[in-house]
Amino acid sequence: MDNTSRPRFPDIKCSFCGKGPEDGKALITGISAFICHDCVGLCNEMVREKAHSSGLEGIDINKLPTPQEMMGFLDQYIIGQTEVKMAVCVAAYNHFKRLFSREQNDDVEIDKSNMLMIGPTGTGKTLIAQTLARFLKVPFTIVDATIFTEAGYVGDDVENMLVRLLQTANYDISKAEKGIIYVDEFDKISRKSANPSITRDVSGEGVQQAMLKILEGTVAGVPPKGGRKHPEQNLIQINTRDILFICGGAFEGLDKIIEARIDQSRMGFNADVRSKSQKKIGDILRKVEPDDLISYGLIPEIIGRLPVVMGLDELDEDSLLRILTEPKNALVKQYKKLFDMEGVTLTFTKEALKETVDTAVRKKTGARGLRNVLEACLLPVMFELPSRSDVLEVVVTKESVANKTPPEYVFKIGEDKKSA
Ligand code: ADP
Repeated sequence: MDNTSRPRFPDIKCSFCGKGPEDGKALITGISAFICHDCVGLCNEMVREKAHSSGLEGIDINKLPTPQEMMGFLDQYIIGQTEVKMAVCVAAYNHFKRLFSREQNDDVEIDKSNMLMIGPTGTGKTLIAQTLARFLKVPFTIVDATIFTEAGYVGDDVENMLVRLLQTANYDISKAEKGIIYVDEFDKISRKSANPSITRDVSGEGVQQAMLKILEGTVAGVPPKGGRKHPEQNLIQINTRDILFICGGAFEGLDKIIEARIDQSRMGFNADVRSKSQKKIGDILRKVEPDDLISYGLIPEIIGRLPVVMGLDELDEDSLLRILTEPKNALVKQYKKLFDMEGVTLTFTKEALKETVDTAVRKKTGARGLRNVLEACLLPVMFELPSRSDVLEVVVTKESVANKTPPEYVFKIGEDKKSA
């Protein structure tokens, strides 16, 4: 059957380019549309290009940043946590090598280097994953494992994390398939007890099973806009084989499990006589073994899919002080910039910085608490400053951080002193 129309239908046009037989185009007729031979060729080319696109465009294996270069970048933003940063850099580097090795078509298949970061809240887990993704310029998303439940229960399907990644990749599927997902609060999907339950566990094992499939590599059908799947919906297929997963969680109480195991195996010989408070939690967490995580409530299969496990250090006063001032986007630098834009110099006394750290330590919120402390101190000033033009400098003192007095104002010469 010849579907090619002839110029005897002068008003027929290609639905794609708008040209017709009078322009020398041969048209193919569809149910309610037409396409010319040139557009067919173009479509063919686009489909072929898409099929061949590996998501690695713009990344040259010979120009891959080395782990040391990645570390150099992380060091500008993240204080301490050296071992974790090293592990993340190596994991990311190997991840790229693994992607390129696939293209070489040999028999050696390199395993994925998914990672698990264990450490108290506010110690930099999310920041490490986020900063790495920024440097590597790959799609990156953070998901919170607590919102996931087994399919059929109230909450989000585990596959929805892929929708988020797809959105950050501007719906470029091949790019999303090479992205990084940071799964926060990973400890919250652990079973409540180490023994497999006979009843269904809404937030535990079922979610781990679903997560396992995604970590291993599966083709998941996801609704383009997220939410629950329903039968009439068109699903986008995403292959998770090459997505790097970095999971993180506080795993509160895991240190006790590790210590109990170590104490038991020592049975008094060479016993570490330091009291628990003397030992750094990071040092204990770094001794984690798969059995400890099973005792905590993770299923063995999921532990097998997270070959790199790292413990983070609790941030001590010195580190918190450095975090306030040293990183490229340190809080103090950020506030100074905000004030600069107002034409006002912002100064922190040494004691003020120390007080900020002490307050955050008392609140036990890690580095996250630093911002709250400074925000509480500077909020009234930031509210007032844009309406006045007589202030030259704002000095943040120890007393102002402790909310006993407002920060001190230094006035421009010739201006009357007004109370802050
Ligand atoms: P979590 O370990 O709970 O994921 P985050 O990475 O979200 O903690 O840290 C919260 C905030 O605290 C970060 O946005 C950053 O400002 C600061 N922060 C935490 N740890 C560090 C660190 N090691 N170096 C620099 N800033 C840090």
